[in-house]
Amino acid sequence: MAANREKMRRLIERLIPDISLQKMAERLVPKHFTAKPRLHYVKTLNKESIESNWKILRGAQTELSDDDQQLLADPSSLEYIEAFSKNIENCIGTIKLPVGIVGPLRVNGFFAQGDYYLPLATTEAALVASYNRGACLITKAGGCSVVILNDGITRSPGFVFKNLIEVSQFVLWAQDQFEAFKEVAEQTTSHGKLVDTFTTVEGNHVYLNFDYSTGDASGQNMATIATAAVLKYIASNSPIKPKHMFVEANFSGDKKASALSFLSVRGKKVTAEILLEKSLVERYLHTTPAMMVEYWRLAALGGVMSGTMGVQAHYANGLAALYLATGQDVACVSESSVGITRLELTDTGALYASVTLPNIMVGTVGGGTGLPSQSVGLKIMGLNGKDRVHALAEVCAACCLAGELSIMGAMCAGDFASAHQSFARGVQHSK
Ligand code: NAP
Repeated sequence: MAANREKMRRLIERLIPDISLQKMAERLVPKHFTAKPRLHYVKTLNKESIESNWKILRGAQTELSDDDQQLLADPSSLEYIEAFSKNIENCIGTIKLPVGIVGPLRVNGFFAQGDYYLPLATTEAALVASYNRGACLITKAGGCSVVILNDGITRSPGFVFKNLIEVSQFVLWAQDQFEAFKEVAEQTTSHGKLVDTFTTVEGNHVYLNFDYSTGDASGQNMATIATAAVLKYIASNSPIKPKHMFVEANFSGDKKASALSFLSVRGKKVTAEILLEKSLVERYLHTTPAMMVEYWRLAALGGVMSGTMGVQAHYANGLAALYLATGQDVACVSESSVGITRLELTDTGALYASVTLPNIMVGTVGGGTGLPSQSVGLKIMGLNGKDRVHALAEVCAACCLAGELSIMGAMCAGDFASAHQSFARGVQHSK
């Protein structure tokens, strides 16, 4: 957070040269002139609501042209626009992201079996090429083994009481209410199940974490709606009325890389591993297993010193791109990209590599998974619809393993900068 004196002085000079203190203050004070118009919230998303939003926007931002409007509200987006009505408010169209394919990626999982083509939506050059290289290597080695270790999603309502006497009475009551909580929660959903509750007391605060299984959906809405119903039950039935209660008290790890999300599970906890012969590492990554392990040790310590949650190179790259292409909530990359990558040299000189991710937040139904192009993303993998969510989570972990192998290979072979320069800037380098 802190910037040293010299840096701060240079920043001020660069950003606001020759500005008096008075002028600086004028810029920063609240202003009360008439605000630009707001877009109207409409319940029904259709071509007319898009047009009327653009009218307001273009009236307020005159630099926007017909062509600009057409780029977001293009005929193809408008044709399907109603399909987005449960996913967006104040809609003005869709943005286009390029989608590349990685694969085939061979996955030997409990649920995922066989070769998968993975759609990755990104604007980062070299990302697809890098994951593709890792996927080809894994496939050539016969595929990676993948195992789901845990699953569940939590909502963590918080309760404020007067004092510890009330807290004790409430906690004692709540401990006996599991079956009632379960019944109330499960009246709101046909697929969500309340699996357990966890209680944490801090002074006169109580956090009651509700742990759910959510079928094939990632389940954030499901867990929220079910927990809200339980809170109503608590309000009516608890012998001790909380002073305040909130449906989420920030103890669920939702959309945050946290110690909690590292040690427990949010979504699916998955681990993947592979054994790579030296010749394969040399052929695909242009380095050796020994060099890969040397680099991994250095990078792991770099991660520890910089205070990362877990140790990994770039899970967020593959996960964000895969989440975007398949309609997952991309903000959940915050917790999903927490985990551990480990490399080891075996007695025979081969490379052992594993990844473990405790928070793969994915669904094959619900959220954005049914949207027109996102549902095609899931179909490309053969993982759309019912009974496929565990396979999808395993494929996500395999994808991360591919990305880890490839990026560490690039670091070891000295290819990392030149690959980005070549793909992103079109500059060819001779090594
Ligand atoms: P959802 O689309 O709100 O709910 C899933 C729906 O699918 C439910 O109506 C469920 O019915 C139905 N369903 C049908 N077949 C199913 C099956 N086989 N398995 C599971 N459900 C099935 O999605 P969600 O997964 O609950 O929530 C994900 C969304 O929540 C994302 O869009 C995310 O951005 C958003 N989100 C919400 C919060 C929040 O706190 N509210 C926080 C972060 C993200 P039943 O319920 O009757 O089973």
